[in-house]
Amino acid sequence: MAAETLKTYYLHGSTPVSSELDILTADFSTSDSPEMAAASILARKPGSVGFSMYIWNRSFCLETAEIIKNRAPSVILYTGGAEVTADPESLDRESVIDYILPGEGELPFRILMDYIKSLHSPHTKNREEKPARLLSRSNIHDIRTLPSPYLEGNGMTENGGEPRRVLLWELSRGCPYNCAFCAESRGIAGVRYISMERIEAELKLFERQGVEQIFVLDPTFNTGHDRAIEILGLIAVHAPSIHFTFEVRAELLNVEQAEAFSKIRCSLQIGLQSADSDVLRYVNRSIRPDMFMEKIGHLNEYGVIFGLDLIYGLPADTLQGFQRSLDFALSCLPNHLDIFRLSVFPGTELHEKADSLGLIRQPSPPYAVLGTDDFSEQELSRAEELAAAANRFYNQGAAVAWFMPVCDALEMRPSEFLGFAADIHEENGAAIQTGDGFHPDPLMHWQLEVLRLAFRKHKKKRYGKVAADLCRYHHYYARALKEADLAEDAGNPEAQISRGAVLRRSSQLYLADFNYDVNLYTEPGMFSLEDFVREYDPEPSFAMIFAATGEIVTLALEEPYYVLLTKINGSDTLKTLLEQTGLSFDDVEDLLVFLHSNGLMHVC
Ligand code: SF4
Repeated sequence: MAAETLKTYYLHGSTPVSSELDILTADFSTSDSPEMAAASILARKPGSVGFSMYIWNRSFCLETAEIIKNRAPSVILYTGGAEVTADPESLDRESVIDYILPGEGELPFRILMDYIKSLHSPHTKNREEKPARLLSRSNIHDIRTLPSPYLEGNGMTENGGEPRRVLLWELSRGCPYNCAFCAESRGIAGVRYISMERIEAELKLFERQGVEQIFVLDPTFNTGHDRAIEILGLIAVHAPSIHFTFEVRAELLNVEQAEAFSKIRCSLQIGLQSADSDVLRYVNRSIRPDMFMEKIGHLNEYGVIFGLDLIYGLPADTLQGFQRSLDFALSCLPNHLDIFRLSVFPGTELHEKADSLGLIRQPSPPYAVLGTDDFSEQELSRAEELAAAANRFYNQGAAVAWFMPVCDALEMRPSEFLGFAADIHEENGAAIQTGDGFHPDPLMHWQLEVLRLAFRKHKKKRYGKVAADLCRYHHYYARALKEADLAEDAGNPEAQISRGAVLRRSSQLYLADFNYDVNLYTEPGMFSLEDFVREYDPEPSFAMIFAATGEIVTLALEEPYYVLLTKINGSDTLKTLLEQTGLSFDDVEDLLVFLHSNGLMHVC
């Protein structure tokens, strides 16, 4: 995105010099080898190579740059980006990079490109002055004049030429806040905005081009209420099928915004960071928990999907304080909770004050805090375990709808429950997975084991059955939602369901058995396990759960039908399976034809 933006800026309304320059962009991932990246770049025979450098790709970029420099010393190397802006001096000291461009890239990039281009001029008098290795920062004050990379035809395709389905979308630069752990607001005061005309034109283009997902680059999207409402209105009209991810400030949320967010496909990310106002004061933030809860309540009221961020290891934070923040965050009922160990980034206020605040930290990326006066190394490790357990049990385990009722029934604080869960995992000798991947059945089995042991330990086994049901139901619901569009071998779609047919269940048809009537779980909203157990008697039930026409469907089944479906395995004929279950072909024909016609049952 950054490279496309610079390219567009340089070539837009190009001067005679810039129009002669051929600027190519290439994307790599840090799982690629620097060797491969360097070879791929050099195959294009570049005169210069620029790296868009962030904390997570710094070593990848530097290794790639070194290989290029060794193989092609005449190629001019330059770099810019957030990591460069945060710490230009160390790159100046330690890297093989020829030019370092801190701050916003457009103006330094233009100076450098004009210089590089002029090197090829036959007339030395046409040479531009050689820039300093460390170019000075220079921002565009009115970003409304910047050309749109997307509208100019840049950045809409992948390396291979196929259309991009996921885009980053810049709406503003700067931030009106000054959180001490962040460098976003440093360098230029205030927020600068992209024009509404450009926003509207880009939205129309995105929808036309079939973009599916957009991450909005505006760290506080709802800072200007009227502007936010106007943009949400434009999205509703021009890009209704695209999913957007926004970052918003909780204290600025209101009913009108919640309603506008609810009318588009989106999720919001909100930085809570800590629920302790004494801790937040150290990083220039504040919180009034009751007001925070009230604002978040608007989102829950309108069914807007949102996640919260927490940081542990901030100045004055303690393990107990972090646990209280965890309790508060989960009581807000976020759809996901992202928890990070504090990183003390160079270029931030916190970095400047780190020694006086007693922050022991890594000297290189990710600059993680290793201990503070109030948070020992062991306590940070424990916080890390809690964070991993929250990610696995709550986020990946699709526990949003039932986690708090379970904690209430157990009379455990959420952080206490997560500590219990983390310990069970460790005792079993299996590492908690912290990646973002979705881990299906092994995860559910771990959750069920945690629930069983917790309800047994707290002598509340009577609630354990409904908790296990909720875990199973939401697990399969989440899988059906997530895997709805996965392609699979559909067998022979033209074949008929017959007694002699060998059938195979789609992997997207989920079968589950429950302790209570499954229909009691299909209504949205939470309920108390105590009330539930008081009101209903256990009644074994069976269901199939699947996605159809964009909805997740739960259909209760009688036991023989459920048993039959579980037996369908792609090897026995239907006749054999019917004999085992005591059902007749007439009994099951309608059901199987329905499943077959919806791609949930295949004829081999
Ligand atoms: S953390 Fe967010 S709100 Fe705070 S300064 Fe950075 S971008 Fe702004």
